[in-house]
Order: sequence, then structure tokens, then C-alpha cells
Amino acid sequence: MKIITSIIEMQSLTSSLKREGKRVAFVPTMGFLHEGHASLLREGRKRGDVLVLSIFVNPIQFGRNEDLDRYPRDMERDCRIAAECGVDIVFSPEAADMYPPGFQTGVTVREISLPLCGASRPGHFDGVATVVTKLFNIVQPDLALFGRKDYQQLAVIRRMVSDLNLPVEIVGMPIVREADGLAMSSRNAYLSEEQRRSALCLHRSITAVRGLFTNGERSAEMLQRTVREIIGQEPSVLIEYIEFRDGATLEEQEVVDNATLLALAVKTGQTRLIDNSVLGEEL
Ligand code: AMP
Repeated sequence: MKIITSIIEMQSLTSSLKREGKRVAFVPTMGFLHEGHASLLREGRKRGDVLVLSIFVNPIQFGRNEDLDRYPRDMERDCRIAAECGVDIVFSPEAADMYPPGFQTGVTVREISLPLCGASRPGHFDGVATVVTKLFNIVQPDLALFGRKDYQQLAVIRRMVSDLNLPVEIVGMPIVREADGLAMSSRNAYLSEEQRRSALCLHRSITAVRGLFTNGERSAEMLQRTVREIIGQEPSVLIEYIEFRDGATLEEQEVVDNATLLALAVKTGQTRLIDNSVLGEEL
């Protein structure tokens, strides 16, 4: 497994691999890898001749009061997991090289970036769209894999790739959960034992809503009330949003159907957690 920090070196390596006709699969991450990342890597391994993992904690997607400085990092462990998943190249650039003095260009995906996490984290998806565009230009992947854990992010990237005719296939992958239902996230490392336990209200809410939906409930307002009650039982968990939106356009829905996305965001202590489920979809 090769570890590359130089942008030029990465770009010329994939250029020559592609000239040889190799299919490049790419998994962009911020590191501190877990089984969610590993599932993307394993699928990428199957689909590509060359598997590239990027590890880059992207400063421009963090708000001023967010957790950029304390975001968990462990390069050694990440490389071990990457090797186990069959990664060929780990690309881990320096922030100063990605955003040198004078950098002033950004990619904005408009409407679909505005609600949900876009509303609570202004500028976040501009940072995501910009770094993903840069990474695509450096790594030149034929396909890139993203988790549905960050559902809106995946929707923003799909929109961007389509709108800008980027020559890359986007693959969305299912949410990987802990045995008790908590969606895996690098940020789970922040949680105390008590917060970790209370965070299960997210999965409990999703299970309850899916159950009510299966029994015929279609009112977003009713379902939202159910979620509010379940999360309300955990006084240490603050609701950021509970929303029902069209799974493709992210437009708000009052009447849910089997393509409706339930999207949740909460805060426990300083830690922000998100989760989601598409109602008509099998788990
Ligand atoms: P991150 O390192 O958190 O920026 O995530 C990198 C990629 O891994 C993104 O495409 C995420 O959606 C994906 N990912 C993170 N957590 C999970 C999970 N629990 N299940 C599936 N994919 C995930």
C-alpha cells in the first residue's frame, strides 16, 4: 500500500494508471476509520482495479465553532484498516497544500444544500462540494463511493456530478450500524457512556416511524410528534431537526410515501449526531 501526501504525485500516478486502462475506485474520508468506511472500501475493492482512500480533515467544511481542532485522528490505525480492506493508495494531503495562500474558488450546489444540515451548518456543503471536486480532479476516479449515513451530502454530490458533467460514477452505500443500532461515526468517539446510551433514541425513533409507516400512517406531522416524544425522553439530547423530505429532491413532505426520507439531527453535549432512513426501503 502506497501512502501519498503530494497532490502532484497522486495526480500523475492515477494519470498513468488510467493510461494503462485501470479502473480507479475512490473513497474520500476524514479518517478515524470504522466499519462504515470499511464497507465502502470493500465495495470499492470489488468494483475497481485500483482502490484509493483519501484521508483529509477538510477545514473549509467546518464552521467556526465546530470541532475541526478536536476531530479524532489516528493515521497509523487508519492505515492498518485500509491495508486490511485492500486499499492500494492512501492519499493524505496537507491542508496548506489543498488551500494555499490565494485560494479563492468554491463550488456551490444551490437548493439541495439549503435545508437540513445546510441550514444548521451554513457553508458546510460548499466546503464539501469544493473539496470533493478538488479530490476528483486529483484522484481522477472512475467511481466514488459515499455512505448514506450522510444522506444530504450524497444528494449534493450526485447533483454536482450531474450538473457539472463530472466523469465519475457515484455509488451510495447503506448505513452501517453498531449492534444496538447506533449509526457508526467517527464522532461517536466523543460520547461519554451516558451520551452513547442516550444517542440510541435516534435509532429508536427510526424504528418507531418505520413501524407506524408500515401500519399505514402517512402524516408527517403525526410521525414527527412520535419522534419528538421518543427523543424528549432523553433530557440530555437536544433536537436540531426532525424532517420528512423527498428522498431525491429533499423537498419537504406533509404526506409521506415509500420514497420519503426521515432525517434526524440532534446534539448531546458538544456532539452533533445525524441519522436517517428512507421509509419504503428495506434495511
Ligand atoms: P467521514 O469520514 O465521516 O467524512 O465519512 C466518509 C464517508 O464514509 C462518507 O461517504 C460517509 O457517508 C461514509 N460513512 C460514514 N459513516 C458511515 C456509516 N455508519 N455507514 C456508511 N457509511 C458511512
